[in-house]
Amino acid sequence: MTKYDTKQREFVEYKPQKGWHCLAVCFQDQEIVNCANCGKQLPFGHTFASRTIKNKKNVGYGVCPECYSKEYFAVQIMNGNDDKENRK
Ligand SMILES: [Zn+2]
Repeated sequence: MTKYDTKQREFVEYKPQKGWHCLAVCFQDQEIVNCANCGKQLPFGHTFASRTIKNKKNVGYGVCPECYSKEYFAVQIMNGNDDKENRK
């Protein structure tokens, strides 16, 4: 499991907190999982595939809608568009 570090600007090893049930792939939408970023519990069907927290196969882990929208900025930086002009 890796997470994009906006300071180091690279993917670094990421360990979710103990006891969190984080999944990148799940075939049961009703299964309760933890958001891979904040740990909030929600059904897997309500999560979004993270753009910054990924497994070895480059598949994003499920994150809650709030964290997913926050990732927008991390992705902007990842793409080199981190100047304030693009943050409207
Ligand atoms: Zn979250």
